[in-house]
Amino acid sequence: MKYKIYLSPPHMSGREMKYIQEAFDSNWVAPVGPNIDAFEEELCRYTGSRHALAVSSGTAALHLALLALGVQEGDIVLCQSLTFVATANPIVYVGAKPVFIDSEPVTWNMCPDALEESIKHYLNAGKKPKAVIIVHLYGMPAMLDEILYLCRKHDIPLIEDAAEALGSEYRGRKAGTLGDIGILSFNGNKIITTSGGGAMLSDNPLYIERARFLATQAREPVRHYEHREVGYNYRMSNVCAGIGRGQLEVIDERVFQRRANFQFYQTALRRIPGISFQKEFAAIVSNRWITAVIIEGHEAGPFQIQNALLEQGIESRPIWKPMHCQKIYKTLPRFEGSVSERLFEHGICLPSGSNLSEPEMCTIIAKLLSVIEHRR
Ligand SMILES: *Cc1c(COP(=O)(O)O)cnc(C)c1O
Repeated sequence: MKYKIYLSPPHMSGREMKYIQEAFDSNWVAPVGPNIDAFEEELCRYTGSRHALAVSSGTAALHLALLALGVQEGDIVLCQSLTFVATANPIVYVGAKPVFIDSEPVTWNMCPDALEESIKHYLNAGKKPKAVIIVHLYGMPAMLDEILYLCRKHDIPLIEDAAEALGSEYRGRKAGTLGDIGILSFNGNKIITTSGGGAMLSDNPLYIERARFLATQAREPVRHYEHREVGYNYRMSNVCAGIGRGQLEVIDERVFQRRANFQFYQTALRRIPGISFQKEFAAIVSNRWITAVIIEGHEAGPFQIQNALLEQGIESRPIWKPMHCQKIYKTLPRFEGSVSERLFEHGICLPSGSNLSEPEMCTIIAKLLSVIEHRR
């Protein structure tokens, strides 16, 4: 399908080619080189993280984060259920067992009460969870005060899946820097892209060094090829890092534009009964990577709206299907509630690119309204 309006297409700044050219001119067309070192430094400067490691994808970053924390075969990892499957799969890569936690209805992220219940359950069973993975869904920061309190109280490391949340803030700190380890994605649909890539953030140099070692085939620091552990080929290429440098220069503009998109949709739709959005608390800033809307109490729902938009060549998507409803993960334990199922059933992701125009948003809004008002 060739869409006229995409959900979240790449948006180049025009400054990427300069860094790509430098990579070619210096012949650093490799998974090492000056763009990678500079991109890691620039990520630290932008996010305020002490250390950063650029890797081949957000999924690889999550895998490395679990390995750096020493998560192993048979361990329990508490994971947000409402997310993209890439959040959960790395838990299985390391042989650990995901336990899925439901969302709260305000930010749509991990419910602190359900998290607390699950921690108590496993502590009582004599099996302390090895890590917690939260997600800042569609850019909206989770309830970090409550979640950090629980993790610190029980001494369980927190991984922030900030793949969708570069540029979001929680009480003045950038998403991805509040937990023990944060991960970012630079996939083509994210707020900035390297065409494919990711990063791991941490203030703890030991986690980053361990991940860097494992991402480089676990090659021991000696001249001959010495390996005492199984490693991975997860480093980012110097060409991709060049794209990332050009993109990171305009991240503030991209956040501004995505937030403006959200404002535009919200202003047009907020008076319609049954329509709601993820809510931003005071002192919290979402990058509004995707504007997702819940539509309840109308005869026509997200399915009909998606079809109507599709007829006009407009791409929209459902909300992520919760992990505890997926065939691969259905039989695993889960904690409480059906908030994430409700969001999945009634939600729709609207086109949210930073290059979206107001006339395009007007077309989308008019179509959406015609579907729900027509059938009410
Ligand atoms: C995109 C995404 C990932 C994975 O990132 P990749 O770079 O595509 O591997 C992980 N978690 C969430 C929530 C994502 O949206």
